[in-house]
Amino acid sequence: MDGGHSEATRRRGRQHRYLLSGIAVCGVCGAPTRVGTQNTSTRRPFVAGQPPARYRVYECAGTPGSTGFHVSMHQEHLDRIVTDAVLARIREPDFRPPSARAGDEDGLERRALRLEIKSDRAWLDSVQSEATRSQRPDTLLRQQDIVLPKIRAAEKRIEDLEEPDPLVLGLKDARSTKNAWERMPLAQRRHVVRALLIPRILPIPAGERGRQGINLHRVDLRWL
Ligand SMILES: [Zn+2]
Repeated sequence: MDGGHSEATRRRGRQHRYLLSGIAVCGVCGAPTRVGTQNTSTRRPFVAGQPPARYRVYECAGTPGSTGFHVSMHQEHLDRIVTDAVLARIREPDFRPPSARAGDEDGLERRALRLEIKSDRAWLDSVQSEATRSQRPDTLLRQQDIVLPKIRAAEKRIEDLEEPDPLVLGLKDARSTKNAWERMPLAQRRHVVRALLIPRILPIPAGERGRQGINLHRVDLRWL
């Protein structure tokens, strides 16, 4: 298990150093966010000779041809909000880990596979009736050699598509979800977040500019 490193990340030889860079998206344009720095506000008195205190933010990285900078949010605040939400979600009694395989979220492929299996079985039934009627059991055996492996392969594919994500399952089954999360390397935490939700950073409503502290209204959590 590679812990959720994306191939693209590995190829570029660069690891993400924050939980949500490239995962949280801009609530205005949908672009992924990157990590930038911001100076603390002018509230703090300026002291000559001292650099302004800085903190990290997730900020809209823009899309090709667009400058971005629609939204930004304190990195630690967003990490806290998303982490709390993920852990609470996983601890819900009816929570089911998502499938490990992306690509059939709507279940269309599994539906098609089940129909295929059904029609293959119907075909074998009809061959069997004909083989019995004509007393030619070899025709049934020949068809079984062809069709049964196809049915097995389709069943295996359905199982694979339904296999729960092992990292998410591990958190769910852990005695303490929080401890298990804290022991996870960052790449695995990023994988878990990615498997569960897309956090969207919303612009600051006019009346709340300059507000300090964690603002839950600034984040829209899109559960997958
Ligand atoms: Zn944007």
